[in-house]
Amino acid sequence: MAKEELECSFCGKKKPETNLLIAGLDAHICDRCIEQAHGIVIEESKQIDNSDLSAELMLKKPQQIKAFLDQYVIGQEYTKRVLSVAVYNHYKRLVQKKTDDDVEIQKSNIIMVGQTGTGKTLMAKTIARMLNVPLAIVDATVLTEAGYVGEDVESILTRLLQAADYNLEKAQKGIVFIDEIDKIARKSDNPSITRDVSGEGVQQALLKLLEGTVVNVPPKGGRKHPDQKFIEVDTENILFIAGGAFDGMERFISKRLNMSAIGYKASHDEDELDKDNLLQYITPKDLKDFGLIPEIIGRLPVLAYLNPLDAKTLRAILTEPKNAIVKQYEKLFSMDDIELTITEGALDFIVDKAVEYKLGARGLRSLCEKVLTDAMFNLPGSAETKLNVTKTYAEGKLSKTLLKKLKAVS
Ligand code: ADP
Repeated sequence: MAKEELECSFCGKKKPETNLLIAGLDAHICDRCIEQAHGIVIEESKQIDNSDLSAELMLKKPQQIKAFLDQYVIGQEYTKRVLSVAVYNHYKRLVQKKTDDDVEIQKSNIIMVGQTGTGKTLMAKTIARMLNVPLAIVDATVLTEAGYVGEDVESILTRLLQAADYNLEKAQKGIVFIDEIDKIARKSDNPSITRDVSGEGVQQALLKLLEGTVVNVPPKGGRKHPDQKFIEVDTENILFIAGGAFDGMERFISKRLNMSAIGYKASHDEDELDKDNLLQYITPKDLKDFGLIPEIIGRLPVLAYLNPLDAKTLRAILTEPKNAIVKQYEKLFSMDDIELTITEGALDFIVDKAVEYKLGARGLRSLCEKVLTDAMFNLPGSAETKLNVTKTYAEGKLSKTLLKKLKAVS
């Protein structure tokens, strides 16, 4: 009996018509059918992903969220707690069942106030990483009112869509970090003097986004592609986190504190104010005095502040976070089979310089880069298997002129 010609049990293609035919117990499958089936599996798992996303997010309790943040963000205990609760409540709101008790949980959008380089962006990034949701980081300074030169506020959602690989479901549960929100503060107390297209106008435009609405978003962004089809994005479940340095905010806080001190003095004698870090006393009223409109403040109900980074914190940032700068360099060197060690003295020296030249946490990386560049150039491919960076070594690499230059660019 002639041997039956093998064929794909799914599509019926004969063996010669396929690139590959794989045999099972009593069936065969061709390469094309495998690919198709694989596509179906991915699509299906995406759907499961989406429906389970909120429930999965809810599994992280505030203490676990904080513990995760602790791995990446040093200090800033207060903000980490506030954020953990806000994020938890946000996702609780997502899974709330429609009930008839009329209690609707409001959005818990967040505003973080703190000097630049204190970890605001890092905090937002870490939360997005933990939740595995898309994150868009946008700079409020590039936004303008519709019709003016600059980007419309809708571009924020274009970014989020891009971050979500155009998976609308995922984007609608993502996080938007709006940096430099302080730069769109109202320039003058009198709103009617001139139109303030990059200040109050943008705040007004942001309102509806923050609150939750359906926005027509150009998927490619900008106004350069006029014929693209819009995607309708519902911002109802998007968590907005705004951040800003609010330079000069202390003035408003101290003014308010001094005024109320008259009435409080007698009973609060022992409550010494920490004058070096007035931001910790910030209230929504101070944001208003600074120039945010009350409606925006109302839609960013969670207010958190970040502490300036002292030498001890900077020192910890160098070595402690999960992806600490020093750990990253160790890894880079180890990939060339070189064991990098940096002495305590060298680390202290780097921190001292970051403090002296006011380079902040961002400067730590530039300093390390300057100290290690020569070695990273010379050692790979050489016979060396060890590099020990001592204080003297670091001193040798960081001349005064170099430090001054670093200061100028930071
Ligand atoms: P901001 O958004 O407040 O201007 P970033 O979050 O961008 O500051 O911080 C800049 C960099 O400094 C981060 O990438 C991180 O490496 C480091 N950094 C700042 N603050 C901290 C912190 N509290 N813990 C760990 N690293 C920090």
